[in-house]
Amino acid sequence: MSPITPTQDHSAEATLAQEMTERFRQVLSLKRMNDLSASRVHAPVSSSPRERTQIQPTAKPDAPPSYSSLRNIPLVPTPPQDARSRRFRNMLHRLSNIPLRWENPGLLDEALQAVPLEQIYNEAEDESERLRAEAESLGRNKKPAWGYQDCVVRALLRWFKRTFFTWVNNPACQRCYSPTVPVGLAEPTPEEFAFGAQQVELYKCSHEACGNYERFPRYNDAFVLLQRRCGRNGEWANCFGMLCRAIGCRVRWVWNSEDHVWTEVYSTHRRRWVQADPCEEAWDKPRLYTEGWGKKLAYCIAFSSEGAVDVTRRYVRSYRHALDRTRCSEPELLYIMDEITAMRRGKLEGRDKFRLEGEVMREHRELWGYVITGIAAELCRLRVETRRDGSLAIVGERVGEGLDPKVLEGLAETGT
Ligand SMILES: [Zn+2]
Repeated sequence: MSPITPTQDHSAEATLAQEMTERFRQVLSLKRMNDLSASRVHAPVSSSPRERTQIQPTAKPDAPPSYSSLRNIPLVPTPPQDARSRRFRNMLHRLSNIPLRWENPGLLDEALQAVPLEQIYNEAEDESERLRAEAESLGRNKKPAWGYQDCVVRALLRWFKRTFFTWVNNPACQRCYSPTVPVGLAEPTPEEFAFGAQQVELYKCSHEACGNYERFPRYNDAFVLLQRRCGRNGEWANCFGMLCRAIGCRVRWVWNSEDHVWTEVYSTHRRRWVQADPCEEAWDKPRLYTEGWGKKLAYCIAFSSEGAVDVTRRYVRSYRHALDRTRCSEPELLYIMDEITAMRRGKLEGRDKFRLEGEVMREHRELWGYVITGIAAELCRLRVETRRDGSLAIVGERVGEGLDPKVLEGLAETGT
């Protein structure tokens, strides 16, 4: 195996997707060319210029793929080599502590006091009953879409978004209730610091006669947030994740390098991790950020008391939405994930470890499935059109470098 160089740091998914597409294209091209040559043996000789032309020179040189990312699969975890990778490693280790702070049984019990459990369990009961009936109406042995525990989390998500937590951009002036404008950062007071606010935003009242200042401490202690009940997506995901733990779910805190955070909850019914974004009241909508909002993402890393996993492929299904991953090389990222996971699972019993390892393999297969279906979807976007001169062209939306229509014209020239 060749050593990994920094030039290979870019997104493995994007590269792989592009190269797989290129491979598919070449296989397809070759097959069509062979079909064409075979049909020629029997076809009457024609001197029409179109038949003489097999492959037109294309806009892009038709170089064979390098297979560099395929060569590196499976990746071999490599300790971070340079200062940049080590900085990223340190940052990920720091982030991995956030969901650990939820693991406090006493505080979790207290947190439950804030949750209207009866209402939530009733709603969950109703929904799971409805889903069971729906499944039964579809035929025997049909599984309901979601299990009871999933319905509990869904009810919690609704309550959290609709009645419990408030979104705050600029805090209103507490003296005259006028809007405020941001004026920068302030040092946290000892009290704010003690409650986990390392950053305090400062806002000034927009009403001239008032001139009051409002402080907005960015608390990262979920139990403090339970009292504050407001914030932006960081606060929302942190507090909601803790409440999921409080009702007994396995939950992950998902950090995204493009400044969003959300949670994932393990569905025992579906035997997989499900995206749960309290800010959006979104359940199992992993494409929301890319296909819904049109965002491009580089890293989505899930942290929990059980370790760390790179779950980017769940959220980025097409290389069109993939940003370059340049913070460290892919083998280094894998090393960091393994390192955090080993730290968290060190004290686990053999049986639990074994169960989690089985789950890791299942998730790995799930995530790879998304890469494959993503490529298939890209190929399905292509269509055949007839040109004015009667020749055929394979065209597609301009979808990045991998499927440039100009390159694909060469395919059509081989005959369809
Ligand atoms: Zn004011």
